[in-house]
Amino acid sequence: MENLDRYKLSMYNVVHKNGDINYMWNTYSGALLKLDERGQEYVRSFSGADDGSNEFKLLKDNGFIVYKELDEFFRVCMEEKQAMFNPNPEHLHLVITPGMGCNYSCECCFEKGADLTGVMTPEIANDVAEYVCTQLQNNPNIEKLQIIWFGGEPLLYVDIIELISYKIIKYVQKNNIQYAAWITTNGRYLDRNTLLKLQNVFVERAQITVDGMSDVYCRRKGASPDDFSNVIDNICYAAENSNIRVNINIVNNDANDAIEISDYLLKQCNLKGRIHVYFHQSLDYSHTPDVAQQTYLEYDESFFRWLHYMIKEYGVSEEIRFIFRKRKTTCCELVKTGSVCIGPRGELHKCFRNSGVKSMIIGDIWGHRYYNDAENKFYKTLDDSTKSECFKCEYLPFCMGGCQCFRATGFKRCDCDARKVTMLKLKLLEGGVYA
Ligand code: SF4
Ligand code: SF4
Ligand code: SF4
Repeated sequence: MENLDRYKLSMYNVVHKNGDINYMWNTYSGALLKLDERGQEYVRSFSGADDGSNEFKLLKDNGFIVYKELDEFFRVCMEEKQAMFNPNPEHLHLVITPGMGCNYSCECCFEKGADLTGVMTPEIANDVAEYVCTQLQNNPNIEKLQIIWFGGEPLLYVDIIELISYKIIKYVQKNNIQYAAWITTNGRYLDRNTLLKLQNVFVERAQITVDGMSDVYCRRKGASPDDFSNVIDNICYAAENSNIRVNINIVNNDANDAIEISDYLLKQCNLKGRIHVYFHQSLDYSHTPDVAQQTYLEYDESFFRWLHYMIKEYGVSEEIRFIFRKRKTTCCELVKTGSVCIGPRGELHKCFRNSGVKSMIIGDIWGHRYYNDAENKFYKTLDDSTKSECFKCEYLPFCMGGCQCFRATGFKRCDCDARKVTMLKLKLLEGGVYA
């Protein structure tokens, strides 16, 4: 009987009771199971042995049962390190900010307090292209380059985007490297001419932020009703007449506003099937932890009200399917050592949220790397958390400790209890269960 006691239940099984039914989610494998009474009893009294039953096979194949010797926490940590510090990555992920200026003055702009005067010159743009090509040359394993154009409002600097893009595209085409570019924009200047320019430099996705219908939009962005109608026209035209996928980011904490603008875009503007819609938390960076937690709880309640409405009205359709994200081995792409954000003066940051923040500069494109704490903060790995709450948290493989930038800068976005509930509710909804 040497196989006795060889197995254990995974520490990453999250059990949720919904009426008489139990659901079990393994946050590492991503599997979600509905447990009938027999299944519940099997889990409750699991002996640790492979008894040859179907229950054992199902639970083991889906990661709910693991080898007894397996240290699941350190497996997550090691996979994180491999992804973070891989010296020969296959993907290079860059964010480029051609200028910090913007045509709006949003009340919750993430750039508050940052230096907004930076504008990339054509000379620096040439050097940026050179820097990117050199990174590719020095890392021959890279198969795919992804660039996100960011701001300020990047479409104020479309000539700079073109200048950099054409040089990089020439290099990647010659060297058989896949290329993908996205842009985050407020959409005000995404007119037909600009759309064509973006298509020509292979921008394949535009994330456009709206806050609500015209009155809400104007109030929150310091915009005019004309701005609003121009943005909507631009979104409609781009979604219908280009191959650029349009993602709408509704930045607001009010479900009614989010529902109203979602319906307006999908029904009245007839964009169903042509855009993706996401309802994003509007953050105020001046929050104290208590206020941040309360605001998050309010947003969370609104988010699910919006999501339930969307599913009832449109089904789990293409517009919202990407809300159900898959697990990643790092909290995001930017914490990988090769990934950087390039600012308008050629300065480097680790996260786009630090654009224009002098104390968070980690070097520049001309070969100076400061190896300072601003960079080091982003490489804190999960095993730094062995004494913290994350060590024992059954949500860790999915959460990966939350955003590194928020942790690095000490900003409190939400509390863990609320975050866990959100992750679980989303997983259940993905499986068709309303919790
Ligand atoms: S559109 Fe973006 S960059 Fe411009 S003010 Fe609003 S949040 Fe800031
Ligand atoms: S940040 Fe919170 S929710 Fe995420 S793994 Fe750590 S303890 Fe769990
Ligand atoms: S804000 Fe956080 S999760 Fe987003 S890119 Fe920056 S470090 Fe990554």
